[in-house]
This record gives sequence, C-alpha cells and structure tokens, in this order.
Amino acid sequence: MESAYVVDDGVAVVSFDNPPVNSLSAPQRQKLHELILHAAARDDVQAIIVTGGSQPFCGGAEIREFNTLAQNASPTMPELIEGCDEVNKLLIAAIGGFAFGAGLELAMAMHYRVAAANAQLGLPEVKFGFLPGAGGTQRLPRLMPMENAAPMMLSGAPLGATDAFDHGLVDELSHTNLLDDALAYARKLITAKAPLRRTSTLAARMASAPTDLFAMLRADINKHTPGHKGKLYIVDCCEAATTLPFEAGREFERARFLELLATPESKALRYNFFAERQATKIAGLSPDASPREIRKAAVIGAGTMGVGIAICFANAGIPVVLVDAKNEGLERGIATIREFYDAQVGKGRLTPDARTRVLQLVSPTLDLAAAVSRVDLVVEAVFERLDLKQQIFRDLDRIAPEGAILATNTSMLDIDRIAAVTQRESTVIGMHFFSPAHVMRLLEVVRCAKTSDEVLVSVMQLARKLKKTAVLSRVCDGFIGNRMLQRYLQQALFLLDEGCSVEQIDAAMEKFGMAMGPLAVGDLSGLDVGWSIRKRRYVERPEMVYSRVADRLCEAGRLGQKTGKGWYRYEPGGRERLPDPEVDQILRAYREAVGVAQRTVADEEIVDRLMLALANEGAQILDEGIAQRASDIDVVYTTGYGFPITKGGPMHYANTLGLGEVLARVRKYQQGYQGAQWQPSPLLVKLAGQGTSFE
Ligand code: NAD
Repeated sequence: MESAYVVDDGVAVVSFDNPPVNSLSAPQRQKLHELILHAAARDDVQAIIVTGGSQPFCGGAEIREFNTLAQNASPTMPELIEGCDEVNKLLIAAIGGFAFGAGLELAMAMHYRVAAANAQLGLPEVKFGFLPGAGGTQRLPRLMPMENAAPMMLSGAPLGATDAFDHGLVDELSHTNLLDDALAYARKLITAKAPLRRTSTLAARMASAPTDLFAMLRADINKHTPGHKGKLYIVDCCEAATTLPFEAGREFERARFLELLATPESKALRYNFFAERQATKIAGLSPDASPREIRKAAVIGAGTMGVGIAICFANAGIPVVLVDAKNEGLERGIATIREFYDAQVGKGRLTPDARTRVLQLVSPTLDLAAAVSRVDLVVEAVFERLDLKQQIFRDLDRIAPEGAILATNTSMLDIDRIAAVTQRESTVIGMHFFSPAHVMRLLEVVRCAKTSDEVLVSVMQLARKLKKTAVLSRVCDGFIGNRMLQRYLQQALFLLDEGCSVEQIDAAMEKFGMAMGPLAVGDLSGLDVGWSIRKRRYVERPEMVYSRVADRLCEAGRLGQKTGKGWYRYEPGGRERLPDPEVDQILRAYREAVGVAQRTVADEEIVDRLMLALANEGAQILDEGIAQRASDIDVVYTTGYGFPITKGGPMHYANTLGLGEVLARVRKYQQGYQGAQWQPSPLLVKLAGQGTSFE
C-alpha cells in the first residue's frame, strides 16, 4: 500500500490511475478510497494531495456503469466523496487538465483546491439529463456565489480555472509545475496551521434575495426549455442548499438524481453521447491508411451551400478558394461571407482584426484551373444535376493536382456515376453538408465503391477539424438521411390526403420534439427541391408512390418562404407561418379528385406513422450495409434533421417501443390508405422475431 503513493516531507501524494481520463469506475473508487484512508492514518502525514498524475485530474463517473450493479459497488460515489469530508488531515485536490462531474464533486469535498491556470472545471450532468448527484449541487454554492454556481450547473459548461479562482472555487492557481505548486501550498497550510475546511460546514453564498434568483431561473427555464425536469430539479437543489442543513440537502439532491437517472430522456442522452463517439470509428480499414493533411481547399459553386462550406474551412483556419461560373454568383457569395463575419463582429464573437484575418483565407475566382492548381481537396457544390457534376469532375480529373481529394456535396445523386467519369475514382468521395453548412453539425461522408481508405480517413479527420459530426454512409439514393426523409415526407403527404391539416401535422411533430414540422421545413428549404426529387423518382422509381398534392402547390407558384407562400403564407420579409385558405382549397380539390375517404386522425397516429416510416427505412439501410450501425443513423437524425436528442433518434425510439410492437403497427398500417407503401424491412421482421433490437 505504501508504494502506491509517495510521502514527501509530511505530504502524501495520491494519484488516480485510470487513464485516459481517470474516470471514477468502481475499482478506481475503491483504490482511491483505500489510499486516502491509508495515508490519513499515518502519523508522518500531515497533508494529502490527490492528483491525476500524468492524466487530467478526473473526467467524472464512468457513465457506462449507470443503472448497473457496478454503480452500487462500495464505496459508492457518495461514500467516496463524503468520506473525504471526514478525513482528519489536510486534503488538497491538485487539478490539472480538467475536473468534470463527479471529479469536481470529489475535488469540492476536499479541504482545498489548487488548479493549473489552464484547467477546466465543470458539472456537465445536465447535458445527460440528470444533475450532480454526489453533493455537487450542495457544495458548489457553498464555495462560489449562487449567482455563478446555479448557471454553471444549468448550462453544464465548464469554467476556466482563473474564473474559478476569482469566484472562490479554486484556492490557488499554478502557472508552472502543478505538483510542485501543490506541495508548496500544502506546506504553507501546514505551517499556518490552517483548519480542515470542510465544505459541508460552510453556508451557501448568495448575494441576491434567494426567492428572486430562483424565481428568475425557473421562469427562464420554462421559457427556453419548457418543463426541463433536469434543470428545474437543479434549481430546487440549489434552493435546498440555502434552506436545508447540508446532510438533508444532500439527501434531497440524491433522490432527484436517482429519479432523473431512470428517465427515458436521460437514457437517450447518454446513448447519444456514446453514439456520436462511436460514429467516428470505421470498421475494417487498412492499418496502413493514414490521414493526409488538408492545407488548402477549393469550393466550386458560390451558392447557398458553397458559401457555408467556405466559411467552415475559413473558421478552421484552412485557406479556401471559392469558384463560381458566374461573376454575379461569386460576388453575391463573397458578400454573404463578408456579411456573416461582420455580424459576428457585431455580436461581439469576433474582433475586427480576427475578421480581417479570416476573410483573407477566402479567395474568390472564376478560373477553375487556377483555383484547384495547388489544393489538397476540392468540394463541388454546384446545381444538383448529374450531367453538370460529371462535367466538372471530368475537368477536375484533368486539372486537379495528383492525389487531391475530389468531394461532392450532392444531396441525392449517384456519386459512383460521378466518380466513374474520372481516371482516379479512389480519390472521389461525398461530403454531404447540411444547410446552413456553417451551422449544422452533421456531415455525411459518403464512401463510393472505389474510395480509398486513405481518402476516407483524411475526410473523417478533416471533419473533426471543421467541427462536424461525421457519419459514414455508402452510396444510395439520398444516402442515410435523405433516403429516410423521403419515407417520412411520403407519410406526411398521405396524412394530408386523409384529412389532416398542414397545421395539425406540424404541431404534432413539434410537440413530439422535432425542431420543426415537416411541412414548415419544406417551406424553409424550398418546395421545388422536393418537387424535383419526386419528378425524378416518378420516372426512376415508379414503385414509390407519392401524393401529388405537394406538386399542386408548386404548380400554383407556392415554393415556400422564398415566394412568400408555400404550405403557409408569409408576410414580406417575415417568417411567421400564417394559415392560407388557398392551401385548404388546393387540399380539398385534390382530395376530391383522388376520392380518398376523409377521417379524423389523432396526433398520436401522425407521430407514429412518421417515426415508423423513418425506422423501417433505417432498418433497410442497415440491412443493405449503407450505414455501419443503428446508432450512426440516430446521430444523422439528431445532428442533421432536428430530431429530439432526448428521444435518442429514430432507431433508438423504435427499440424503446420494442421491435415486435413496431412490426405489429407497420402491419396495421399496411391495411390502411396507401398501405402497399408499407413493406416491413426483412431486418425488422427478423429482429422482431428474435425479440432483439437494432444495433
Ligand atoms: P445554389 O443554386 O444556391 O448554388 C449553386 C451555385 O453553383 C451557383 O452559384 C451557380 O452559379 C454555381 N454553378 C453552377 N454551375 C457551375 C459551374 N459549372 N462552375 C462553377 N459554379 C457553378 O445551390 P445550393 O443549394 O448551394 O446546392 C449546391 C449543391 O449542394 C447541390 O448539389 C445540392 O443538392 C447540394 N445540397 C444542397 C442543400 C441545400 O439545402 N441547399 C443541402 C445539402 C446539399
């Protein structure tokens, strides 16, 4: 035991030993607990420093242990942390890197805290749908003012060590060697006969009137995230810290923590956390494939997408040449980029100097050959026409440097047919950004039949640099996201045929948690986009039936917000959706023409049909190997399609219903209007039969 920690002139140094982030797994908790107690029992020890060793201090609880037996293994998190309070020697946390979640709760239960000046301290539990459950809500406001403590827990955002020091959470900052500084601090405390400052004995710090602050926080939560139980409970716990003795406050907190941990929302949030990490892993890659660095890029097409993509590169510090065929297009594109950065300066997010520097990274040109002559990567984002894209790739094949990666941002076209016109198919790949490209996190990375592993890993690495969540897809009509969306929209239109109103469908889906209803999304992105997809599919895939009602709208010149009218009416320059009797008239005429029986449809059926349409197509996508895993599909939907993260994603949602139930409902819908469009995926049938889930 003695060899597991060092004692230096009366100060014991105990280190975590659970790389890479020193999470507090059951074995790590036990080891730490024993070492601290052992050191505390020694007569030659006057102070104990706990450090992360060569790793960050502590990343917190082992989330995978939640709701498992390991979570309850002794010492539990509260036992370990409360145990620190009881230690009868000076106990000092030396925080390097970061202290997150239970890691910070542990540090707060120690008597003093020294932190490296660049360390980060945070309680991110709210992001996982629960709250700090090992005393965090009771200790933080005893160490720093409630006015700062409550917002820190409500946002989950970390605090830099310098701010933490200013607020009182950290007692000493280290600017050089953390351990040396912590040892010096420990000796200073010993010499000064400093007391064992137990957080549990301190009173909560609060400058404003408690009722005002808590009422304001609750009002704010109910306005921006109505009914967010995790956040409301955090405020309740903060209030308890000011009204209850420490022990009672801790029990109050623990009960709420355990309640939240068991909620489906929290389970979905934790599932998503791992799903996003998993999505970056690609099975079966050659071990020799190493990523190429992208030092310079070109974007072809200075339209909506090209502009957003160019901003992504510039934000990542990568010089980018923006090319367009037309001068007006190029000028408009560059003006949009300038306006974007001006607005950033206006909002105080960028200094004028930084704007100048970032704008210098974007160079406009009409000359394609000059643009691509010295780049490592080209992203094509011209009109969605196969012949046009093929022509551009023929040109690129001639003029782009050898080895340059040739990417296309096509939404739906067959990238293998684009790659096939070149003599270098291994360098061609899809980079499917979502609109607005500089805002949306999702990037579908589309692997063509002949894309090399090296090109693939290079683009996955680039995605991280561009701060995108990359999900791998194989080539198919619409890749993962848009292919599933076609089934979702197909059902939305059928529901209109059967008698639902535009408003009812959007409201039902928004109540479910979608950022925007399907018809409102259509108005935002332009109804002509879907119209051209459907027109192509009428020819290429006649087996996929659509209601023609959306075509009637487009034929009437209703293309969405850009024409001031689509499924809704918009005042000039406005975005507020206003109901339009003309739409009702078009709907009525269409229903009569096709002679569909009208009925009242419950909101539950709207949600169910749209969700199951997604999940069933997702199952087909999995079965065909288009997506690597079900969780990747969920990441596509939560990061690119406004799917509520608290419901995990369409595949997770189907798993929570149970696939047997999902299949039974799909079979029921097969008996209804346009029932032939419901074909249960063989994978769904198989898994439902086995009683298992999508993986
Ligand atoms: P857009 O019409 O806004 O812009 C296209 C631009 O390409 C125009 O500025 C045009 O002048 C330019 N262009 C046309 N031919 C060219 C050529 N030969 N050389 C250079 N420039 C040329 O289109 P967009 O909405 O930005 O879409 C671009 C691509 O991105 C399409 O393939 C589209 O399917 C895809 N995409 C669009 C969205 C979206 O929501 N808009 C989302 C994802 C992907």
